[in-house]
Amino acid sequence: MEEIIVFGHKSPDTDTICSSIVMADLQTKLRGKQVIPCRLGEINDETKYALNYFGAEVPKYIEKVEEGQVVILVDHNEFSQSVEGIENAKIDTVVDHHRINNFQTAEPLFYYAQPVGCTSTVLFELYTVNNIEIEPKMAGLMLSAIISDTLLLKSPTTTEKDIKAVKILAEIANVDVKTYGLDMLKAGTNLDKYTEKELLCLDAKKVEKENVKYVIAQVNTVFIPDVLKRKENIEKEINKEISEKGLSLFVFVITDIVNSNSEAIVLGERADAISKEYELNDNIAVMPGVVSRKKQILPLVEKNI
Ligand code: MN
Ligand code: MN
Repeated sequence: MEEIIVFGHKSPDTDTICSSIVMADLQTKLRGKQVIPCRLGEINDETKYALNYFGAEVPKYIEKVEEGQVVILVDHNEFSQSVEGIENAKIDTVVDHHRINNFQTAEPLFYYAQPVGCTSTVLFELYTVNNIEIEPKMAGLMLSAIISDTLLLKSPTTTEKDIKAVKILAEIANVDVKTYGLDMLKAGTNLDKYTEKELLCLDAKKVEKENVKYVIAQVNTVFIPDVLKRKENIEKEINKEISEKGLSLFVFVITDIVNSNSEAIVLGERADAISKEYELNDNIAVMPGVVSRKKQILPLVEKNI
């Protein structure tokens, strides 16, 4: 019997991990055979907090997939963000909330995508459409994913569907959204324990477009100056990444989750992609009201590169 595995993107965030577990649960129920959640990297402290709180197991780590392996992708579609060997895997289903880029399959597939704040919001709808009851644990995981991706519904990526899903899921999971949400987000903001190199990888999106390669990495904090204390060493690591990977641009976004603002360290020959909009002072761009890489930073870079 062929095994089906589910996974999200590299540098996994809470949505990627929780949506993998939840999608595996949903698919196991729909198909009547075990579907296995997997991950492509270390889970962060925020995600650990959520899994621990709702008593969920950490998905199995995989490095690559064999040719013909049946896979389900959640929270991504771009091959540059996916598992090694994805080009030769059999992609059965995608559940996502990102643009479609660098994505191609040999065969027809299920593709569920919506321009909403979180993959779990799409999954929430899939349970409803398929008339499958949502267990409290799965509700808690979906709730955690939505809180994480929308920064407690404050990000401009937030839609009516996310708000509605959060309300219902919080009832099923029996938690207070604000209290739980802030505790979970704060659990992910202890950045002192990471090396500079690890900071850059915690939540990094690598994009390749028309031979231009760039990375937008993001970390959450409750106090931006705490992170900027390490600016010199962070810049050293960024410059290393730029030369090792042939990047044109590296944007390291530090987001204040309490006040919903960001500052970014911007390096690379195409730093102009950011500086056209935000003045760079000593490589730092101050971005008031910016919290979303996808909706606010990525489109700006795309436009200018
Ligand atoms: Mn994600
Ligand atoms: Mn997501």
